[in-house]
Amino acid sequence: MATTNGCSNGKVARPAVPEIKFTKLFINGEFVNAVSGKTFETRDPRTGDVLARVAEGDKTDVDLAVKAARDAFEHGKWPRMSGYERSRIMNKFADLVEQHTEELAALDGADAGKLLLLGKIIDIPSAVQMLRYYAGAADKIHGEVLRVSGKYQGYTLKEPMGVVGVIIPWNFPTMMFFLKVSPALAAGCTVVVKPAEQTPLSALYYAHLAKQAGIPDGVINVVPGFGETAGAAISSHMDVDSVAFTGSTEIGRVIMEAAARSNLKTVSLELGGKSPMIIFDDADIDMAVNLSRLAIFFNKGEICVAGSRVYVQEGIYDEFVKKAVEAAQDWKVGDPFDVSSNMGPQVDQVQFERVLKYIEHGKSEGATLLTGGKPASDKGYYIEPTIFTDVKEEMKIAQDEIFGPVMCLMKFKTVEEAIEKANCTRYGLAAGIVTKSLDVANKVSRSVRAGTVWVNCYFAFDPDAPFGGYKMSGFGRDQGMAAMDKYLQVKSVITALPDSPWY
Ligand code: NAD
Repeated sequence: MATTNGCSNGKVARPAVPEIKFTKLFINGEFVNAVSGKTFETRDPRTGDVLARVAEGDKTDVDLAVKAARDAFEHGKWPRMSGYERSRIMNKFADLVEQHTEELAALDGADAGKLLLLGKIIDIPSAVQMLRYYAGAADKIHGEVLRVSGKYQGYTLKEPMGVVGVIIPWNFPTMMFFLKVSPALAAGCTVVVKPAEQTPLSALYYAHLAKQAGIPDGVINVVPGFGETAGAAISSHMDVDSVAFTGSTEIGRVIMEAAARSNLKTVSLELGGKSPMIIFDDADIDMAVNLSRLAIFFNKGEICVAGSRVYVQEGIYDEFVKKAVEAAQDWKVGDPFDVSSNMGPQVDQVQFERVLKYIEHGKSEGATLLTGGKPASDKGYYIEPTIFTDVKEEMKIAQDEIFGPVMCLMKFKTVEEAIEKANCTRYGLAAGIVTKSLDVANKVSRSVRAGTVWVNCYFAFDPDAPFGGYKMSGFGRDQGMAAMDKYLQVKSVITALPDSPWY
């Protein structure tokens, strides 16, 4: 099997462990210790060793961060400056992020086990693009002239939502930060960001770069800490106007409950997925195998849109299975700083054990393990690319989001059956279709209940393409101009004309 032991024996792109410059909370433009003085460890998933100790924010620190964000919103320059001026500063922020690409990719690589190379060519450049996209939106926010009956004139204003709490997961620490923070900044909001406890480092670096770019103090605050303390303090805070959350469906529910019990803040939820990849008989098999391998093993399966359920039409099923197994065995597991690795370690021990437990579940439920299924190294959190066949829709491995490198292969006969099976999940985040038939592509993409459908491609993200879930994958959209609505309020202004009965 073509896996390495987590210690690379290929070419390692330096630096293997980046210098860690920022480990304190960032509140009101300053790096500060937590009021409690507490810190927590963030670990390097390649070895399990401690990478850094980071200040551990809790309710008291969140209160301070929200106060700073509130002051900056009520009295500061950011919401009041012209859209053009905000845009100029956001573009400067983007330039600084771009200039630090190497360092930031290394930081996420060491903190999250992400491939250094992909960080440099995907994560950081996409974040820069996102920031520039929304910088371009900042001076195009406008309301409408209303057709009010009678002797009135009416128009709407779009005003910033206020203080936004941003709670994000660990799988794409950089992208998650910019997906939420970029449109919030463009709208004129101020933010309190709680990065995931597993990956707090790059968010602190971004706070530093934002200050350098000229974003005023209090506009961006970053409070690393745990979900039940720092996260819960944000979602239940009486002075936070909105929460933008990405994470699991379970915690999405908890956040919504907290919002309902506190000040009825608005909530947007980007949640889990169990996305189908549907491959029809007329597909080019090699292309379909490559796409489905990428769809599940990219970022070690730690991606909400992972194509974890692969449905293959019966005419090509046997050949597909054989090639998919070979392709999985060719997917090299190794140090994410080694340029020849295709996949690094799972983010931490909890996730590593969780994925292995699901694999045991699959075996005990009667699915057939074709390849993989065990740790790829005796050190670090590496798992072999794993494929199950003979999977039934009702099995746990076909229903739950595993969030690891585990493909479930299933067979279908007709287009209608494929649609029915694809929709047989509580999630609705994404779907992939591989076919040469335009009719089939159109029929399936319109029938699958998912927020994004990729036809003959996968992971084709763009800042202009709205992204979000159907069903229990959440609501609200990131990306696209529609995402601006999450960070804006609409105000109607109706003015009586001089010859109206009010005079
Ligand atoms: P998670 O839900 O456990 O945690 C996400 C964030 O919520 C973390 O910052 C965590 O500290 C915080 N949190 C935990 N408990 C909280 C509480 N009680 N109150 C407030 N905040 C709390 O998710 P995870 O394990 O970090 O990430 C994996 C999940 O994220 C997967 O389900 C994945 O599908 C999902 N995800 C979704 C998208 C999307 O766009 N739909 C993108 C990436 C990841």
